[in-house]
Amino acid sequence: MNLQALIEDIQQQVLPFYDQGRVADYIPALASVPPHQFGIAIHTLDGREHACGDADTPFSIQSISKAFMLALTLQADGEQLWRHVGKEPSGNPFNSLVQLEYEHGIPRNPFINAGALVVTDRAIGHFGDAHARLLAWLREETGNAGLMADQAIAASERAHGDRNAALAHFMKSYGNLGHPVETVLDQYFHNCSIAMSCRELARAGLFLANHGLSPQTGTQYLSRSQAKQVNAVMLTCGTYDAAGEFAYRVGLPVKSGVGGGLLAVIPGKMAIAAWSPQLDARGNSVLGLEALDRFTTRTGLSIF
Ligand code: GLN
Repeated sequence: MNLQALIEDIQQQVLPFYDQGRVADYIPALASVPPHQFGIAIHTLDGREHACGDADTPFSIQSISKAFMLALTLQADGEQLWRHVGKEPSGNPFNSLVQLEYEHGIPRNPFINAGALVVTDRAIGHFGDAHARLLAWLREETGNAGLMADQAIAASERAHGDRNAALAHFMKSYGNLGHPVETVLDQYFHNCSIAMSCRELARAGLFLANHGLSPQTGTQYLSRSQAKQVNAVMLTCGTYDAAGEFAYRVGLPVKSGVGGGLLAVIPGKMAIAAWSPQLDARGNSVLGLEALDRFTTRTGLSIF
């Protein structure tokens, strides 16, 4: 199959969906991103790369960082991580507070904000500077030594991060956060603010399609079983309260971010990154979902 021609055709098909969503504005620095942008990039395990549209434009990866952070922390923490965070879909928005009290400060999964804060806290315990560790890893995988967090976005998140601060304080009161709230928030916001392009994201996500082994660097980041676990949690929780719709329409492990990025994994074959900043009501990219739906429908490449 000619994947390059396919993604170019898909691009033409999804452009009419502009303005059906809205750029995230609860983080003011994200609101100024020009809305009419779309990119898609594919990296295959046999070394092919296809990209079109704005595939080389860096954007804020936001919650896609949570998939990489989970992988890093699972590698260091092993099964004890799951004593601090669950692995069930929440059915609630990514920044929801409601379940936390019922469930005694143990977040439902590592991809809602509360869960990612706990994962970041665990990572700080292992690495000290968890953000520096994540950045070093992503630089190595993408081959881009200049990869950085966007400091303006990190500062904007902090200035408007009262809800995340509330989640962190609440978990701290249950003894489920080992480090100071300010430290955990700072590292979490910097992870979310990392800027990457679709091409870089697809490259960095390839280890998840390859049983935990990076084809770029030859590093076994996760065991086969752990790679399965991260992919499974991406499928069931990676797009929050839209995980059912994504499983139904796309049929792949996917992690989204409010910067408009989506990282999808086809185990044994490839990683795909799509990006377009306008989001639906559940915080997922409108054009990104349309593009991934068309990709798996037309190729038959889903996990089902
Ligand atoms: N940094 C964002 C937040 O904490 C991440 C949310 C997202 O991408 N879903 O609200």
